[in-house]
Amino acid sequence: MADAAHVIAPSGGCNGCANNATTLQCPTCLKLSIKDSYFCSQDCFKRNWNEHKALHKSTEDASKTTGALHNPFPDFQYTGSVRPVYPLSARRTVPKSIRQPDYADTGVPTSERMLNRAKVDILDKTAQQAMRKVCRLSREVLDIVAAEVKPGVTTDYLDQVCHKACLERNSYPSPLNYRNFPKSLCTSPNEIVCHGIPDQRVLLDGDILNLDVSIYHEGYHADLNETYYVGAKAKADPDNIRLIETTRECLDAAISIVKPGTPIREFGEVIEKMANERGCSVVPTWGGHGINTNFHPPPWIPHYAKNKAVGVCKAGMAFTIEPILALGKSKEMYWPDKWTNATVDGKRTAQFEHTLLVTDYGVEVLTARNEQSPGGPIPMPIAATTR
Ligand SMILES: [Zn+2]
Ligand SMILES: [Zn+2]
Repeated sequence: MADAAHVIAPSGGCNGCANNATTLQCPTCLKLSIKDSYFCSQDCFKRNWNEHKALHKSTEDASKTTGALHNPFPDFQYTGSVRPVYPLSARRTVPKSIRQPDYADTGVPTSERMLNRAKVDILDKTAQQAMRKVCRLSREVLDIVAAEVKPGVTTDYLDQVCHKACLERNSYPSPLNYRNFPKSLCTSPNEIVCHGIPDQRVLLDGDILNLDVSIYHEGYHADLNETYYVGAKAKADPDNIRLIETTRECLDAAISIVKPGTPIREFGEVIEKMANERGCSVVPTWGGHGINTNFHPPPWIPHYAKNKAVGVCKAGMAFTIEPILALGKSKEMYWPDKWTNATVDGKRTAQFEHTLLVTDYGVEVLTARNEQSPGGPIPMPIAATTR
């Protein structure tokens, strides 16, 4: 419950009783620009809270129906400068002719929940071909969305582009309604660690933006993400470059050791060592995962050193590696939307992800970039590469 703020003199009576009002005004009303919500005392304000707060809700609902852009959580203590900009666009639809995962209608990934977390699938030749296909399509989708990244566009527009590109490929956008996620793409700018919800926020020159694309095609999922520089200002910031290029190289270094027999726990050793050498920290909460007919089957793949992951790579396994590095603290927290994950210190993070297939002798990067892919590495600032 909110506490009343002391402000300017009231113009009339108390909102809660027949007394004259004092200078106590409801702080939520102030933020919502609701006028004259004065109370005679803190006690009276508290007594009337249940009825009074309905006024906040109706005011907020009205701004939603009129489509006015607003911050849906005005009381939340944001850690950085990014804010949600609502209303979210209406839920996008997928024609029934496109094969859908089990959670598409319910939000509950039932088959994934029933899995034995200790058993890792080995894909046969047919399944491997299906994974190659869905991953090639997912790369096309990411590249189409990434080509639209520039200052002035909203993340909701990028979601629309992603959704359309999925449907054109006879594919379902895997994030849509996965555990009730509302959109077809994850967009995570600046201090947003992952799982940002596309909304009406406009990209700014100087932002960095992660696009996490996952698609479901003919019964198989693919998953990949990259972090992009938004505008020339973003590429002029040495910290952005150090963060993004280090993360990209950490993923590449981890991929370079994938082959039958490599312990799953080794990836975190390689990633954290390189991250720390470049003054970045590894966000430990989020890991890579198996991927096949389910979106997130075992194994779980930590990106930090000295982890206790069991098991080794075997030919026929498909999984992602997707390290998230931070410029500051590696600790993160949720926004009230229960999805958006932000760093506690508001400093920036970057992430890169590929879907991989372990082969008899090494690895196939199923979601690899091609020559036309937007983005790609830029030179590291001199100071960061010399040591
Ligand atoms: Zn992903
Ligand atoms: Zn993933």
